[in-house]
Amino acid sequence: MKMHVVTDELSDIERRLQKVLSVARDLSVTTDRNELLRKITQTTCEVLGFGSTSVAILEGDGRFRIKAMTSIRGDLKMEDFHDYSMPLGELEELLGVAHRIGEIYWVEGSEPLLETLVERGSVVATEPSVPGGQWQSRSLLIAPLYRPPAEIFGVVFPDDPLDGRVPTLERSILIATLAHFASLAIQLHENRSYADAQLRILTAQRERLSELFRASNDVQRAGQLEEILQTTADAVTSAGGFRRSAIYLRSDDNLELRVTSGIEQDERARLNESGPIELSRFAEIMQPQMRLSRSYLFDHRKYPLPDQLGRQLSIPDRPHVEEGGDLWDPRDSLTIPIIESGQLLGVISADEPGDGRFPDLEQVQALEFFADQAGIAVSQMMQYDLLRELAETDPLTGLMNRRSFWSLAERLVVNARGGGFEMAAMFIDLDHFKVVNDRFGHSIGDLVIKEAALNIQNRLRTQDVVARFGGEEFVVFLTGVDQVQALSLAESLRMVLASVSVPNTEDAITASIGVAVASPTVRRFSPRGLIEELLRMADSALYDAKARGRNRVQLGGVLDS
Ligand code: GH3
Ligand code: MG
Ligand code: MG
Repeated sequence: MKMHVVTDELSDIERRLQKVLSVARDLSVTTDRNELLRKITQTTCEVLGFGSTSVAILEGDGRFRIKAMTSIRGDLKMEDFHDYSMPLGELEELLGVAHRIGEIYWVEGSEPLLETLVERGSVVATEPSVPGGQWQSRSLLIAPLYRPPAEIFGVVFPDDPLDGRVPTLERSILIATLAHFASLAIQLHENRSYADAQLRILTAQRERLSELFRASNDVQRAGQLEEILQTTADAVTSAGGFRRSAIYLRSDDNLELRVTSGIEQDERARLNESGPIELSRFAEIMQPQMRLSRSYLFDHRKYPLPDQLGRQLSIPDRPHVEEGGDLWDPRDSLTIPIIESGQLLGVISADEPGDGRFPDLEQVQALEFFADQAGIAVSQMMQYDLLRELAETDPLTGLMNRRSFWSLAERLVVNARGGGFEMAAMFIDLDHFKVVNDRFGHSIGDLVIKEAALNIQNRLRTQDVVARFGGEEFVVFLTGVDQVQALSLAESLRMVLASVSVPNTEDAITASIGVAVASPTVRRFSPRGLIEELLRMADSALYDAKARGRNRVQLGGVLDS
């Protein structure tokens, strides 16, 4: 089927990335340690394409022991590894002779050290699934599990790549990403709170993603979603047996028309002009009593056509066929919801059955199949867009840009509310920066901005969010700090910024900072609304700080319930 072809064209790396990330979320909430380790080996095999994978953990006696293993071919079993152990020293030796691919290590099958280790039993030679390929029986991949700052406490050994090849850099980033999440999950499992775990995973995700997006130049997505939707709409009008179809995607509480098939251009233009349709309005033709399978058949003889909606939808202007019977009338409609993981992502509207009759269950179910395919594609794409947003950074400073700031900060608000953490925002603006530019030039100005950004970032915790909002303006968003802590952090930022000097001069800069804080119990805002309100308060505090002479911190307000 055509739909499959398009879906398959989604870049292989991205699809795997999606899986790795969804496993990462899963890992962060898995409470059983063995289960956790098993998920790691299983995902490495199934998602990243290895015949077998094992995880070894460093124990008190300084030896790694295998704690979980997955073998797709079924020829290796955990029981075979009861007596297995590898001293830390041997792992270090192996890393010494290994090639680095990104952050993981590859030891060539012909490496002499392997012969010794295979004899000692610390390395197990396995038959590759692809004989005679680049991957040989003794070849070894090592993805270390790190505890900060750089202590190896475990190892993931992906083995027998199913394409017979040593992983490319991009593939290696996926392996390292999974290993990274695995180590986080294992450590968090040991002693951290759930909310803290989530925050850390979120932050880590962002870092890993920026890296992947930097490494992967072939990720070209523009237009792909449109193409998938168009194929779906066309499938409804060709294979699906309807003359006309339209696909609407959900955006907040609206449905926006994205593609049509079988609809004349001027009619399409009219639909475009009538703008997005409120979800509640569409719901009038998606009521429980209209349900057929999981779609909605609107029969105008049974229900009155909602006026406004009637004008916003495409109703062909044809003479009415005879009343009665099961003949289709232009005023009837069939709506197939696009649902993925319980979320309504959009709808397919199908109109004018080719045979002029009311569609039966089978026909509707065939359309639902198309809707399912589209749903998978749409949700992947939305996830991907979200991830890309999260990964976007400002080129000068490497900080987040506005867009990624919003995505991450909104998630932090949700977490903070869930965990009962207070929140704080700061607006930081460098003082009299025009003067710096005027005196020393724009490129020196840029260097100062970069240095300022670095100094801000260094003072923050990894889970804090700092973004470059404008030229020499930065925004910080924090959770889990109260008013006193936020003000003292702001003060330390002010001090460190006052020590940033203009390169090759005696001059130093200063900055003014506006601060606002919110309690997690403030519920009258959406996450975005809350951040907007905090930033507004912080911005006006910044204005006060400037008015009062600059180089100072000003508290703007406290949002409390
Ligand atoms: P104030 O103390 O009131 O903030 O004074 P200011 O001069 O910093 O004024 P304002 O914040 O309104 O203007 C910021 C100036 O920073 C304007 C522009 O000359 C400079 N600027 C903005 N973006 C950049 C940038 O990307 N690079 C450089 N070098 N300068 C920038
Ligand atoms: Mg300024
Ligand atoms: Mg400014």
